[in-house]
Amino acid sequence: MAAGIVHGLSFDIECYNQIICKDYLGQAIDPGDEVERNTSFLLDLLDKHNKKATFFFLGNIARSFPSLVRRAVDDGHELGVHGDTHLCIHDLNEKSFADELKTAIDSVEQAGGAKVIGHRAPAFSINSSNLWALDVLAKAGLVYDSSIFPFKGRRYGIEGWSLVPEKLKNGLWEIPLSVNETWFGRLPCMGGGYFRHFPLAYTKYSARALSRAGRNGVTYFHPYEFEQKNAKMPDTASEMLGKKGFLRLAISNVLQSRGRKSMRKKLEHFITEFDTVPIGSLLE
Ligand SMILES: [Zn+2]
Repeated sequence: MAAGIVHGLSFDIECYNQIICKDYLGQAIDPGDEVERNTSFLLDLLDKHNKKATFFFLGNIARSFPSLVRRAVDDGHELGVHGDTHLCIHDLNEKSFADELKTAIDSVEQAGGAKVIGHRAPAFSINSSNLWALDVLAKAGLVYDSSIFPFKGRRYGIEGWSLVPEKLKNGLWEIPLSVNETWFGRLPCMGGGYFRHFPLAYTKYSARALSRAGRNGVTYFHPYEFEQKNAKMPDTASEMLGKKGFLRLAISNVLQSRGRKSMRKKLEHFITEFDTVPIGSLLE
């Protein structure tokens, strides 16, 4: 391990089924107990290894499961928000984003009895067309945002964005997600599907490469990635979606289920081998 290099550990706390029903079927459902089960697993694991992390809660998860937020605070973790109902910022304007953000912050702070200091946009949806979102976050009094993937992605990312945390003119810090600089350009690493689909060796290699370059990695995970069962289709999917839509969701479910069974062990290996801290601690 390179001296002084630590990696940010973070979790975006959301319900997979709830997001699928919203995004594919336009249906609002309550979050399921899968969120509670898997977030409790994560809190237990961190407690076992005496590790602290950042929990970016959705406002609606904080309202449904306030005891999870309270436990995260009691266990010494850092609080962030991940929006209120997982609306992407490119579907919002300045006013609706500010309203959504305020509802989320109020819900998470009320449940946890502690201040929210960070933000992660649903689906990393801050891009070059909606950088006004960073001013909304600064005005809301947050310390940092960690939503920008500094690469040219198909669905997200800003090509050429700084690879290291930067204090913006509005006073907010942007702590970018991690990419490796390779012969093929910048490649994402350290979290979500990049952690789940690839062997742990890829993340370890990436963490060491970042350390050699003098950069801290930023990891991110979701509770449903630690669920030990495959994602299932919503009951109404076959009647509400055409053949094409049904197939698209079925493929998405297969991809979201792949690698879940080994996630618990992989994360435990990672946090015991590398020095990890809450995202906000990367600014120290
Ligand atoms: Zn999310």
